[in-house]
Amino acid sequence: MPVILQPDSAAIAQCAERLRRGHAVAFPTETVYGLACDSTSEAAVAEVYRLKQRPSSNPLIAHVLDAAMAKRTVIGWDIRAQKLADAFWPGPLAIILPRRTEICASSVGGRTTVAVRAPAHPVARALIEAFGGPLSAPSANRSGRISPTSAADVAAEFADVDDLPILDGGPCEVGLESTVLDLSRARPAVLRPGAVTTDDLSRVLGTPVAIFASHTQGASPGTSASHYAPETRAELVAERDLAARLAQETSPVAVIAPAGTAVPAPHELFALPRHASAYAQMLYSTLRRADATRPAAILIVPPTETGGLWDAARDRLMRATARRNGSAAKS
Ligand code: AMP
Ligand code: MG
Repeated sequence: MPVILQPDSAAIAQCAERLRRGHAVAFPTETVYGLACDSTSEAAVAEVYRLKQRPSSNPLIAHVLDAAMAKRTVIGWDIRAQKLADAFWPGPLAIILPRRTEICASSVGGRTTVAVRAPAHPVARALIEAFGGPLSAPSANRSGRISPTSAADVAAEFADVDDLPILDGGPCEVGLESTVLDLSRARPAVLRPGAVTTDDLSRVLGTPVAIFASHTQGASPGTSASHYAPETRAELVAERDLAARLAQETSPVAVIAPAGTAVPAPHELFALPRHASAYAQMLYSTLRRADATRPAAILIVPPTETGGLWDAARDRLMRATARRNGSAAKS
């Protein structure tokens, strides 16, 4: 069984020591929970990939305390990177730049680049500080499954793993994975939308930043179509089609929809808030709750609002409902 720890200074010190010995620790960030390891240790990185069953080509984000630690992790930290760090760090933005050789090639699927991010969660910061160097960490879920937003979610994902320490930092504030911005290419591009939006980035960089359509162009494995999926078959249904769609269902289904949506028995409504930040924060835990009731299907009424976190949420919903196929990279 994994061990859930209250994140006092003794637990942080114990976890930092475990990381130094080349083992994994689950920790909270403001986006989702992560599974951390020493970015410079091949053995530690291998443990994380094995625990997650993550395809070796899917790169990990290196978590740093600040710009100073980022400069020891990447090459070519320039004025753009510094402006972004000043504006959004600590926070939900990962920046891709060429990696220093100390960062294991295996932690980035053999790439010459690495994504760096300074998380805002105080427990994440305390752990990085106690460890004293970058921590590579993917989301703390089995590959292809929904990212965890609480310590209990992580424990459920790794229920069969002995002795995995999980630092309990409470429910994640953002609830969706970070924005991933690639600064290593000629034009900066967002590979994964998140709480830091393309408008935010364009404003700070003083140049338009676009979302890179990676599943057609193959740049970033974790952004492939089938991803973040519940066990149950999940489908997007427009609000206007919901009643007709439910009428066809003979067994009870779970409906994830904005609060107030009419859902007749025997089907069950899992309501989501109508505010973007509250919606994002609750999305994954709601998917998990709906999945746990083992319904015949999960029907999701996607938000119709656009911009910012709504776009990031819709992006994850598209992946949660995409057909799985063997070649899709997962995270
Ligand atoms: P996760 O660790 O589950 O949050 O996934 C991290 C995702 O960030 C990966 O699946 C990639 O899509 C993206 N990413 C991280 N590092 C890189 C990199 N060096 N190059 C391209 N994409 C990256
Ligand atoms: Mg992930």
